[in-house]
Amino acid sequence: MMIRAYLDNNATTRPYDAVLKAQLLVQQELYLNASSLAGELLGAARPLTEARMAMLNLLGGDAEDRLVLTSGASEANAWAVFGATSSGSHIVTTAVEHRSILAASEAARARGLTVDLVGVDANGLISPDTLAASLRPDTQLVSIQLANNETGVIQPLGSLAAMIRENAPGALIHCDATQALARIAIDLSDVLAEIDLLSFSAHKFHGPKGIGGLFIRDGVELTPLIAGEQEGGLRGGTSNAPGAAGLAVAARQAQANLKAMAAVAELRDELESRLLALYPGAQINGAGAPRLPNTSSVLFPGALAEDLVEALALQGICVATGSACTAGATAPSHVLTAMGLAPADARATLRFSLSVETQHQEIDLTLAALAPLLKFAG
Ligand code: PMP
Repeated sequence: MMIRAYLDNNATTRPYDAVLKAQLLVQQELYLNASSLAGELLGAARPLTEARMAMLNLLGGDAEDRLVLTSGASEANAWAVFGATSSGSHIVTTAVEHRSILAASEAARARGLTVDLVGVDANGLISPDTLAASLRPDTQLVSIQLANNETGVIQPLGSLAAMIRENAPGALIHCDATQALARIAIDLSDVLAEIDLLSFSAHKFHGPKGIGGLFIRDGVELTPLIAGEQEGGLRGGTSNAPGAAGLAVAARQAQANLKAMAAVAELRDELESRLLALYPGAQINGAGAPRLPNTSSVLFPGALAEDLVEALALQGICVATGSACTAGATAPSHVLTAMGLAPADARATLRFSLSVETQHQEIDLTLAALAPLLKFAG
């Protein structure tokens, strides 16, 4: 089945042709192990350096900061949780984090650490007061996402981080920026100057799957998750040089993507107003909060999102449910239920996520396919 409309860019994006080309070139011609002596001498480590530099440049990092390449954001998130904490300590995170943070926190709890999950309001925003109340003198890590993968809701991380620094001076502040990167400006030298650790994943901004990383601020100590000599002793395993070559291309393109986001937001807004007109009672989740320009989480009361996704996919139209699938059973999204949605409403929510590549025609196609489906859904 050909993809006719792709509105699932928060799940993954199409890798740019230049990304694929860069990867292939390294696979074909620079396939030496980047850490071997011959590899080093013949330039096989160059893509790694280029990816690190391109990412530090994009994020506003300094030459002294470290940018460690990982297999993606799930690994970077798990590393932040396990690498920044020790037994008996305290972690604060939020109820709307990606599963990789929540699962790592659960595992930390099972090992005897205390974990506090801060809730969100109906718009998906963390209350600064609730967050402040959860901070303790022994808090070692505070992990908060910059933007949510399901709703696109953006947390005011700059001001929250300043408050965390004041109330828990011993804590490292980690940010999962996976969905925010290349969609909103991220500046670790300015608004986000208090952030110590930041996770990202290349496949969310038209780079390859299987590579991402963790930004580690100069001076921050982190225990490796995977021991080894690579990445300055911080992350073992043969380096993914082809992935790094692709990541470097995607990172260099990301600045231009940011500029194109105003047009993406216009398309998204048009999609939302046409969806609201199509279905009585439809609502945008997180509408009262700042949101990513590309994301729309829409509740169609009475509908079953899973059925809609399936019917659309069979027509080559890709959207997502608001929930994560676990072993065949669809549990209602923890993000939407944390915002106060009833489980039935969480199951009645579709996520549309656009990219700089989304064409107007894809919006038209999606609406034309949804209209008859929604007629019988409510
Ligand atoms: N964090 C967030 C907010 C995400 O959306 C995702 C991907 N769905 C991840 C982490 C995990 O990224 P990766 O696929 O690179 O493991």
